[in-house]
Amino acid sequence: MKQHDAMYIGGSWRPAAGDGTIEVVDPADGRVIATVPAGSAADVDAAVRAARAALPGWAATPPAERADRLAALHEQLVGRAEEIAETVTAELGSPLAFSRAVHAGVPAAVCGSYAELARTFSFEERIGNSTVLLEPVGVVGAITPWNYPLHQVVAKVAPALAAGCTVVLKPAEDTPLVAQLFAECVDAAGIPAGVFNLVTGLGPVAGQALAEHDGIDLVSFTGSTAVGRRIGAAAGAAVKQVALELGGKSANVVLPSADLAKAVAVGVANVMANSGQTCSAWTRMLVHEDRYDEAVALAAAAVAKYVPGERVGPLVSARQRDRVRGYIERGLAEGARLVAGGPEAPCAQGYFVSPTVFADVTPDMTLAQEEIFGPVLSLMKYADEDDAVRIANGTVYGLAGAVWAADEAEAVAFARRLDTGQVDINGGRFNPLAPFGGYKQSGVGRELGPHGLTEYLQTKSLQF
Ligand code: NAD
Repeated sequence: MKQHDAMYIGGSWRPAAGDGTIEVVDPADGRVIATVPAGSAADVDAAVRAARAALPGWAATPPAERADRLAALHEQLVGRAEEIAETVTAELGSPLAFSRAVHAGVPAAVCGSYAELARTFSFEERIGNSTVLLEPVGVVGAITPWNYPLHQVVAKVAPALAAGCTVVLKPAEDTPLVAQLFAECVDAAGIPAGVFNLVTGLGPVAGQALAEHDGIDLVSFTGSTAVGRRIGAAAGAAVKQVALELGGKSANVVLPSADLAKAVAVGVANVMANSGQTCSAWTRMLVHEDRYDEAVALAAAAVAKYVPGERVGPLVSARQRDRVRGYIERGLAEGARLVAGGPEAPCAQGYFVSPTVFADVTPDMTLAQEEIFGPVLSLMKYADEDDAVRIANGTVYGLAGAVWAADEAEAVAFARRLDTGQVDINGGRFNPLAPFGGYKQSGVGRELGPHGLTEYLQTKSLQF
C-alpha cells in the first residue's frame, strides 16, 4: 500500500515536526499495512499558516477558475477510482464492490457537482437597494471520520474550495491513506500551494489543536456526538463558525399499505451496507402491529444473505467491534428478542460482527436510543400513525429516515411529520445536490449541493 511518511503542507510533502507514527491496520485480518506520521500542534500550526497565506489569492480567484481546478480534481478522482477503492478496502475493510460504487463513486460525483456549482452559483445578488456579496468564510479546519473516509473529506473540501476558502484537513487516524491519495489528486489538479493542506494525527492531539487554532475561521466536523459537542463548545467560546455532522438513530417507517417484502429487503440492505457504519442508517424498522410478525420473518430471512467476509466486511477496528458487541449483549440483557446473529464472532480473524436482527425492541431500550454503528437492526411495533410518529421522533437524533406506503402522497404526508433532516420515500435515490444534515442532536449545518456551499460563505450587504 502506497503511503507518505510526511504531511502535505503548502503544496509539498514535508516531514512532520515530531517522530510519532500511527499504524494503519487492515481490519479484515488485523495486519499492519502502513504507518503515517502522527502530527502535532506544530504541524497543525504550519498547515494553518500555509492555508492563511494562500487565502487572499484563492479567494480572489474568479469562481470560473476555481471551477476549472475542481473539474481537474474530479478528473483525478475518476481516473484513480480503482486505487481509491482498493485503498479504502485495505484500511476500512469494506467489500471491493462497495468501495468501487460508493467509496470511490460518490466522492467523484460530489466533486463534479461542486465544479459545476462553482461555475453556476450566484456569488452576489441584488435585494431592494442592496447588493449582497457572498464571500468566503476564510480558513477551514476539516475533521473527518473513518466510515466514509473519502466522501466525508470531499463533502467538506470541495464546497470550501468552490467558495474560495482554504482548508486544513485532519482525517481519521484509522483511514489516513485515502486522505493522502486525495492530497496527491489535489496536487495533480493544479490547485495552488496552501489552498489544501493535510495533517494526519490523533484526534485529541492534532484534531484538538486544529479545532482550537486561532487561525481557523470555521471548523467543520463529522464524527461522534461526544467530540462534536466539545468542538461546538470551543468554537462558541472563540466565536468561530462551526458545522457539525453527528450521529443518527433513523427510523424506517413501513406504513400498513406498503409493499412489505420490498420495504424489509431494502431496509435490511440499508443497515448492512458498510457493516452498519453509516450515520444515516435506518437502524430502527417500525412496522404496524398487524404485519409485524411477517416483517420479523422477512428480516430474519433477508439478513441470512449478508455473509460476513463476502457481502459484509469487518468493522473498522477492534474497538468498534467490541463496542458493537457490547450493544448486542446489552440488547439481550434488556429483553429484546434475538432473531438473527448475536455477539459471537462469525469469523476466525478480523474485526467481524454477525449481522444481527432484534425484534420486540421498545422505545426505552438502549438498542432504540443509542447509535450502535454496526450491522444491527431493531424491529419495533406501532399501533397507529400517531404512535409511529411518536416512536420515530422519540430519540435525541434527527439525521435521516425512510417511509414506505402504496401511495407516494401518503408517504410524503407522513414524512412531513418527522423531525429529521432527510427522508427517503419508498427507497429514495441518492441525490448529490440535496442538503444532508441533522435536526436536534444530529448536528448543525448542511453538506452537499448549494446548501453545502453556503456553509462556507459569509454575507456582506452594500446599500446603494
Ligand atoms: P470520533 O468522533 O472520535 O472521531 C471523528 C474524528 O474526530 C476523527 O478524525 C478523530 O481523530 C477526531 N477527534 C477525536 N477526538 C477529537 C478531539 N478531542 N478534538 C478534535 N478532533 C477529535 O469518532 P470515533 O471514535 O471514530 O467513533 C465513535 C462513534 O462515533 C461511532 O461508534 C459512531 O457512533 C460515531 N461516528 C459517527 C460518524 C458520523 O458519520 N456521524 C462517523 C464516525 C463515528
